[in-house]
Amino acid sequence: EKQKRSANIAIFDQTMLQQQEREYFLKSALASAVDNNELFLMYQPIVSNQNGRVRACEVLLRWSLNGEVISPMEFIPIAESYGLIHELGIWVIEHAFKDVANWCFEDDVSISINISIMQIEHDEFIPFIESALAKSEISPQKVSLEITESLFARDNAKVIEKVRALQALGISVSLDDFGTGFSSLAQLQSLSANTVKIDKTFIDSIESGGRAIIQATNYLAGELSYEVIAEGVETQEQTAILKEIGVENVQGFLFAKPMKVEKLANWNKVHAE
Ligand code: C2E
Ligand code: CA
Ligand code: CA
Ligand code: CA
Repeated sequence: EKQKRSANIAIFDQTMLQQQEREYFLKSALASAVDNNELFLMYQPIVSNQNGRVRACEVLLRWSLNGEVISPMEFIPIAESYGLIHELGIWVIEHAFKDVANWCFEDDVSISINISIMQIEHDEFIPFIESALAKSEISPQKVSLEITESLFARDNAKVIEKVRALQALGISVSLDDFGTGFSSLAQLQSLSANTVKIDKTFIDSIESGGRAIIQATNYLAGELSYEVIAEGVETQEQTAILKEIGVENVQGFLFAKPMKVEKLANWNKVHAE
């Protein structure tokens, strides 16, 4: 038994070490990812569940390192820990604005950009957004920023102030991953964002308990004039139930996987048929 335990500890140590080594390696490589042109953007359409029209596209960052595409779930936390998130965030916004300025969609289709709370807290963020908007000449009405709801609660007063400043520029703000964090439904009121993105976990469990939460969220969101998007929709059954509930917008692999900007036009053509 004693031997088994020490073997377990040894394996545990080794895994930790490997994780630390990978993190260190990624952190070093990430510092030059922008200069080395290793970043690229994918776009995932968000569509109306009533008429199928494209409403927006979510911008999803990718990092290609030596032929391996690394997930943002792995590198965004590293970027946050090592102070690299601001540079990445600027890169994302500048490139997304460029793409949007000449993409295939009609003028009312917006982009939705993920922002980590560290970015929004940075004093230079709002001035940067303002100048990026001016430079690109895209309308602020076409831009939405997604902020994870769980982090929203961290320094509420400061974040709410920033959200208001962004909204004053004409940008809208989405609560991402809604339902997974600390906020209760009642807090939808004080957060005063524009859109709620109902987290995939509730869509996954829509036939076993998730439905009630989606219904309650959708109802309250409607009362508070929020737009609602269901995330991670993968099946026709989920789509049908969401329609029954009255959730207006859907996003997920069933409709479109994230794709490069050049592919959007063709997807849109096929989708419209
Ligand atoms: P998220 O904002 O919740 O994005 C949704 C994730 O779910 C994306 O993963 C998307 O590709 C995936 N997804 C969409 N539809 C489906 C579906 O039907 N089924 C399944 N299984 N997955 C689906 P991705 O692209 O790997 O991004 C992961 C997370 O990384 C994002 O979660 C977001 O929090 C973060 N992220 C991505 N791009 C950026 C960025 O530019 N800046 C920041 N700060 N974070 C980003
Ligand atoms: Ca998101
Ligand atoms: Ca999400
Ligand atoms: Ca997420």
